Amino acid sequence: MFDAILIEKSGETQTCDVKQLSEDQLPEGDTLVDVAWSTLNYKDALALTGAGPVVRSFPMVPGIDFAGVVAETTHPDLKPGDRVVLNGWGVGESRWGGLAKKARAKGEWLVPLPDGITLRQSMAIGTAGYTAMLCVMALADHGVTPDKGEVAVTGAAGGVGSIATALLAHRGYGVAAVTGRTSEADYLRDLGASTILDREELSAKPRPLNKERFAGGIDVAGSTPLANLLSMIRYGGTVAACGLAAGMDLPTSVAPFILRGVTLAGIDSVMCPMERRRDAWAHLARDMDMAKLDSLSVDLPFDKVIETAPRFLDGGIRGRLVVPVA
Ligand code: NDP
Repeated sequence: MFDAILIEKSGETQTCDVKQLSEDQLPEGDTLVDVAWSTLNYKDALALTGAGPVVRSFPMVPGIDFAGVVAETTHPDLKPGDRVVLNGWGVGESRWGGLAKKARAKGEWLVPLPDGITLRQSMAIGTAGYTAMLCVMALADHGVTPDKGEVAVTGAAGGVGSIATALLAHRGYGVAAVTGRTSEADYLRDLGASTILDREELSAKPRPLNKERFAGGIDVAGSTPLANLLSMIRYGGTVAACGLAAGMDLPTSVAPFILRGVTLAGIDSVMCPMERRRDAWAHLARDMDMAKLDSLSVDLPFDKVIETAPRFLDGGIRGRLVVPVA
């Protein structure tokens, strides 16, 4: 028997507790993993609180990512003892996830952890950091290089934003960190931000175009902040959009696209092809400053996960919360 967080639903009532499960209750899959670390992400907070329709079948073990060691496998590319990480693929949504001491998964979903990253570091990065890297890669793919000017990062004090700020700074970009928590200015400067911008500056009713200000952007907010950001992107720039912390809508016009050649690059980490994932993790092993990673991540005990989830949705969490599971 092992500990797992289990979300159950009866009628309209959702409950969430730490339960004892046995291996034979785990879903089908060719690989059994001893989970060492998981995390609490925005999406997990939606699942745990029931605030968003994340969980698609009940009962559900939440946790959209985990890192651990292969215990048993029949997958040809894996063997017991391999260190692996899993992000997405519907885990923690439609398939049991990482907030349990054991997980069974398809071997094809597991990324072997690159040398130089510990299991804890891989979850301090987690889905938020891997998504941040997918955003950074999208900017580079679209020709947004450090010499083109500053890149704006929204939700900079959150998980994706903190890691995006550190990664961009490490690559030599000027970073305008957009935050609703200007009290976190020192933290953001330590991560490498060159400018701190109050979120208010992106909260006006969006105009089709504003003064050209940023070479690119990484956006976790959606809605009005993204619409304003697009209106401020320099000719030929790109915004990588991955989140909806401010809302699902996008009250913009085609003006930035047809008059300034701006690109809006959508980023999805969940179904991202394996080759791109491996690239992202290889880049992370090279470009993630591990001292900065330590400064932006804190451990959250397994038995505190459920009570911490609501704070996430209030935007009250700084950086990354890493959950020791083993
Ligand atoms: P966090 O809660 O850690 O960070 C979100 C940050 O957004 C907050 O810390 C806050 O930063 C900012 N924010 C909150 N509310 C608003 C608002 N109303 N307007 C503008 N900014 C706001 O979450 P994560 O970093 O883990 O995730 C961020 C987003 O990215 C989420 O929507 C998540 O679902 C999405 N995501 C998407 C992925 C994908 O595959 N596409 C993968 C991972 C995450 P501050 O206080 O600095 O302003």
